[in-house]
Amino acid sequence: MIGKEAAGCHDRGRTAVGAAELASFGGTDLDDQRSIEELARRAADVVGGHWWRSAGGPPVIVVAAREDGRSSTARWSSRPTFDRCVEIRLARGQRDIATLAHELAHCLAGIEHGHGERFRAAEIDVLTVLAGEAQGQSLAACFDSFALAIGPQTWSAPGAVVGDTFVLRRRGAWWGAQDHPIG
Ligand SMILES: [Zn+2]
Repeated sequence: MIGKEAAGCHDRGRTAVGAAELASFGGTDLDDQRSIEELARRAADVVGGHWWRSAGGPPVIVVAAREDGRSSTARWSSRPTFDRCVEIRLARGQRDIATLAHELAHCLAGIEHGHGERFRAAEIDVLTVLAGEAQGQSLAACFDSFALAIGPQTWSAPGAVVGDTFVLRRRGAWWGAQDHPIG
């Protein structure tokens, strides 16, 4: 059984990642507080999409943390009807896109992986899907400026709709999907 106690938010990399996230997200609308319903819908859009499934991401449910819960978490759900789902719990004051991207990145990277290179690659890709390429690239630049390496993805880079042209991001460049269809 993995993940029951590996919230991923207490490893040594957490502080450095948090500083880079603050530099990238702080004061932007990614920090705006939203309803659990909206955040659950945004997560469902990502998790229900082709890219997430092709990347091997698990099913995810998003719920409110307990009122006294002070930090958000991503853990394997213990609810019988959500067996093999990761349950993201969002604490009051952390119900925003930035936190959702962080927790979804744990889901994609593997919640046992903490905040290392693989997590950081996942967070950039999840943020790109949730909030667009510019936000993903901003986070990548902040990781770089904090000397935090970004691991190689073992999944395909996410696609995104830009205007009416479907494109793929690979190594910071964009190509039309007709030239590089998702495999
Ligand atoms: Zn974390």
